[in-house]
Formats: sequence, structure tokens, C-alpha cells
Amino acid sequence: MKDSNFLKEKNARSLWHPMAHPADSQANPPTIVTGADGVRITDVDGHEVVDGVGGLWNVNLGFSCQPIKDAIATQLDQLPYYSTFRGTTNDKVIELSEMLCDFFAPDGLTRAFYTSGGSDSVETALRLARQYHKIRGDQGRTKFLSLKKGYHGTHMGGASVNGNANFRTQYEPLLPGCFHIPAPYTYRNPFNESDPEKLAQLCLQALEDEISFQGAGTIAAFIMEPILGAGGVIPPHETFMPGVREICSKHGILLIADEVITAFGRTGGWSGSRYWGVQPDFMCTAKAITNGYFPFGAVMIADHVVDTFEKDTTGKAAIGHGYTYSGHPVGAAAAIACLEETQRLKVNENAAARGAELYQGLQEIGAANDIVGDVRGGHGLMCALELVSDTATKAPIDKQTIGTIQEIAYQNGAMVRVSGPNIILSPPLVLTAKDVTTIVDALKAGFAAA
Ligand code: PMP
Repeated sequence: MKDSNFLKEKNARSLWHPMAHPADSQANPPTIVTGADGVRITDVDGHEVVDGVGGLWNVNLGFSCQPIKDAIATQLDQLPYYSTFRGTTNDKVIELSEMLCDFFAPDGLTRAFYTSGGSDSVETALRLARQYHKIRGDQGRTKFLSLKKGYHGTHMGGASVNGNANFRTQYEPLLPGCFHIPAPYTYRNPFNESDPEKLAQLCLQALEDEISFQGAGTIAAFIMEPILGAGGVIPPHETFMPGVREICSKHGILLIADEVITAFGRTGGWSGSRYWGVQPDFMCTAKAITNGYFPFGAVMIADHVVDTFEKDTTGKAAIGHGYTYSGHPVGAAAAIACLEETQRLKVNENAAARGAELYQGLQEIGAANDIVGDVRGGHGLMCALELVSDTATKAPIDKQTIGTIQEIAYQNGAMVRVSGPNIILSPPLVLTAKDVTTIVDALKAGFAAA
């Protein structure tokens, strides 16, 4: 067995971690994960736990998905790389595009543009949205609207539409012309409204107000996650996303669904947009498209946008955007195998069933512990507990208490994610009812120790 202290010391001396203070990761060394099997991960000390985080919302099929591993190995032998820039393509990316358009995307999304991950997918959609308006001669439509608490990755465009100060302040100035409206977040919102349906209407009105304040003719697109993920798992009322669609259509604003988390079964539907019955103009995907085994993403594009680009005769629709790894054949092969398994196993159904059990377990924890301010879930396998130090003032919990809960849960068999005051759960979609119990019991032990 590797010496964990030695590795931790080397880790501190040789790398910085995303989303972490460099000094903090030296003081509190991260868990060194060295192996995985099914829905379980093993650390360098040999401790095995259920992965309640599912990698990073991406390992939907667990860590032992042999068809994907085989597809990657086979593709590496056959064609390890070739670009899809103008003039070349590959057989795998053609096959994948058909699968995405025919089965996984909402109706009417008929083209794919490939990326290396979620931030790239968001950047792609933002750029193509601006270009769409320019092709149409609508030069003034350059602004973007989004939700507070939304997360859209780390590129400058994505950071500009992000709705959480942590991902913005130190990197300003960001893209000009990006504005945010309140999220339909029942536990904390400027309207003090806890009824989800009423809150959805208030947020929709805020969107209308912002559009009229900015001028509809200045706005290129509205970007949103169908269920906010990294912001703390915030599911809107079912009327919200359809309402956004209606308002965007009325004002000629494109709707970008950021489905980097919600696509491919996590919500219980095949995508978050389909779950809410909405057809977006762009759908950003990444993460679970390859089950996390290869960095890859795809942006799906609606047919009226496709028409605008493909029927252009002025040259304005030439796409001056793309990545060396757009349509990477190994990523495409991984995605085909992943999506075949995703479909064959109907993981969305298991996500819905296990998600309901997990949500129920978390509600029990919430009822038994005063420090749980809010329990969120009920839409597949994405749930969160929001912790407070005082339920009356809703003051966020301190780092130490939530850290203890996480640590004790880990010792009791489950990896859970802490993000600010939230404990976030997004396990693989193939977990069993017993695995759900393991996670809930581990968390109960964590709360008992806090
Ligand atoms: N959009 C959403 C909704 C995400 O959750 C994430 C990642 N958590 C991203 C974009 C960025 O994806 P990536 O980290 O792959 O760049």
C-alpha cells in the first residue's frame, strides 16, 4: 500500500486544486482516491465508501462500465485522434451525433457541436447565440441574462453569467452586458416567498422587468440550468422553465439550457429540458456524456438556429470557434458506448426511484436536526441539505461543523460533497436501494457527531 502521508506531502508541494484555497488544501490534505469499483471508491489507506458525489455529477453509470472502457481501448487502436475542423471528420463522431439528435436531445435539436467539457459547451452556446443574431442582421443583441445562483463553468463568458460571487469577484472585469435575475429558490429570495409556484411567477416577472429595462432588442440569450446544480440543487416549480421559454420566444431571445449536470438521466428524465417539457434553442452537455471517463461535451442546436446558419449566403455564419478536441474520436467512441448503456439500463428510471428514497432519507435527517434549514430534491438523483447555525436568522453553518459531518459520513461509508453551507448528493444513477441507505446512515452518523 502507498504511504498516504508521503503522497499528501507531495500533493501539497506539487499541485493546486480547483475550487480550493491553496493554503487550505495544504492544511487539510485531500482524500487520495486510488481505486473504484461499481459505485464505490477506495482511498490510499484502503478505506472504501459509496460515492455519493458520482465523481463530480458525471459518473452516472458507476466506475466499472466495461463497454466504455472497451470502446476507448478499441478506438485508441483504430484512430486515437483526428480533428473535425473544416475538411475532416471521423466515423465515430457521425454515429454519436445521430444518437444525440435522435434520442437524447429534446425534439427539434438537430445538430451537435463538440467540446472538451462543460465550460467549453457554455462558451460555445454563448458565442453561437451572438452569431445567430448577427447573421440575421440583429447587431444589437449582445447581452446575456441568467439566474443568480446559476453555475455555468469557468471561462470568461461562463463566469460572466455565473450567479455566485465566489466564481466572479476575483476575476473581474468580466464580460460586459451580463445581468442576473433572482433564482426560484424558495428558502432564500428577495420576495420572501416560500410557495414554489408563486415564487416562479415572481421570478418570471423579474425576467420580464429586466428585459424591458435592458431593452429586448439588446439581449442575445437567457441561460439557465433546468435544475440549478452547483448553486445548491435548486429545483424550480414546474411552471418556471416553460414560463422562461415563453418569455424568451416572445422577445426574440434565445434560450440556452445548461444541461451539463441534468442531461442523460440525472433528473429522472433524459434531459432537464425534456423533464420540464421545454425545447431550448441550445442545450449544453458534458460530464455524463462519457460517464466521466473522457473529457468531452456537446452543444445541441435547435433547427431554426440551424436554418439561420446553414442558409446564410453572406459568409457571416462561418464558425470562427472550435477546439482541438472538438469531436475527438476517442471521446465520441466513449460517448456512444456510454449512451448505449445509459439507454439500455434506463438509468433515468433508477434515478427517479432511488432519488425519491434518498430525498425521503434526507427529509428524515432534516426533521431530526435543527441545523438543517432546507432539504432539496425530489427530481431524480440530485439532492442537497442546506445547513444553518440558526434556523430563525438562517445564518449559514460554520465550516467546521459541516466539515465534521462530511468527515464522519466518510468514516461511516459515504463520500458526500460540501459546497458552502450545502451538502450535495449526486451519486451514480446505478446505485441500489442499499447504497442509498448506506449514504443516509453515514450522514445520520455525521449529524450525530456534529
Ligand atoms: N455548467 C454546469 C451547469 C456545470 O455544473 C458545470 C460543472 N459543474 C459546468 C457548466 C462546467 O463544466 P466543466 O467543469 O466540465 O467545465
